[in-house]
Amino acid sequence: MVQSPAYTTTPIEYRRLFDDELRERILASKEELGKRLVILTHHYQRREVVAFGDFKGDSYALCKHAAAQGAEYIVFCGVHFMAEASVILARPEQKVYLPNPLAGCPMADMAPIDLVLAAWEELGDSVDLSRMVPITYMNSDADLKAFCGRNGGTVCTSSNAKVSLEWAYQQGERVFFFPDQHLGRNTGNLLGIPRDQIYLWDYNTPPAERDKKAIKRAHLILWNGYCHVHRVFVPHHVEAIREAYPDARIVVHPECTEDVVALADAVGSTSFIVKYVTEQPAGSIIAIGTDLNLIDRLAHENKDKTILELAGQTCAMCVNMYRTTLSDVAYTLDSLDTRRPMQVPEEVQKYAKIALEQMLTIAG
Ligand code: SF4
Repeated sequence: MVQSPAYTTTPIEYRRLFDDELRERILASKEELGKRLVILTHHYQRREVVAFGDFKGDSYALCKHAAAQGAEYIVFCGVHFMAEASVILARPEQKVYLPNPLAGCPMADMAPIDLVLAAWEELGDSVDLSRMVPITYMNSDADLKAFCGRNGGTVCTSSNAKVSLEWAYQQGERVFFFPDQHLGRNTGNLLGIPRDQIYLWDYNTPPAERDKKAIKRAHLILWNGYCHVHRVFVPHHVEAIREAYPDARIVVHPECTEDVVALADAVGSTSFIVKYVTEQPAGSIIAIGTDLNLIDRLAHENKDKTILELAGQTCAMCVNMYRTTLSDVAYTLDSLDTRRPMQVPEEVQKYAKIALEQMLTIAG
């Protein structure tokens, strides 16, 4: 994590307000600020928070929207890395706020820059670093994005991971993929990279115990990170749904493990899942393998379909996304001029932006 905004506790008097009062305050602030304010809500936010979003979507789409809007205040209802990316893509006069500064991402935290730099140096003993392209998933800290920008790499999202890897293999012979091993492996599988050419970089392994032959053989090196929400799903969940609902369609996110992905009917990013569910005919039964809050909202928005949680009684929910409440949003809007907006050091911004812009070029 580069630099957290000053921790601002939402005062207890806001926490004591009922939802109706909070809604009134938020609406009043929105009306007063007009086009000077834009509220962005990620798909995994609570339903009552999403209701106030001027835009809802995945992290990258939201950052692009925000910069394009020209609003002075960007309130990003999501997690830390998203607000950071929004700062990087925003114009200098725009201020970005994360309503609950404690909302982080455990997966992004699994790839701290000091461990990444140590891994890069260690890899330099076995392979030619000038032929290795670092790619980080959007779900990573700004300093890791900057590392990729500095070293000829890029950022990817779950929807463009495949083209990003294809681009990388035109630049060099190896890819070091951060921080989600499952998105990396699922994408490597799509490209047909043989198993013995994929190496999992366990950052806990002492250098002396590394299999250097396996590293030299590898075309894809995966950081040992994962999203605990999507790792909840196991093949048994798919089998149980197939048995109970033989006609059900099963759609999962590529942060799920490869064995779950192999059994699903469809795999794709959060935006893909939303589109997939929306486009299924009335009467469809759809089991979804992703965050519970999104599934809940999709069930409300698709009342003509039966929407099931793939994990059944096991709760796959991102608690960090769930942290942001109406009281956090109301307090943020009331304190825009007194609280510190999200900060990212200039040097980090500069190189992270190179990697993000590279992503745009690749995506066309
Ligand atoms: S769902 Fe997973 S990847 Fe997304 S913010 Fe939560 S922990 Fe991070």
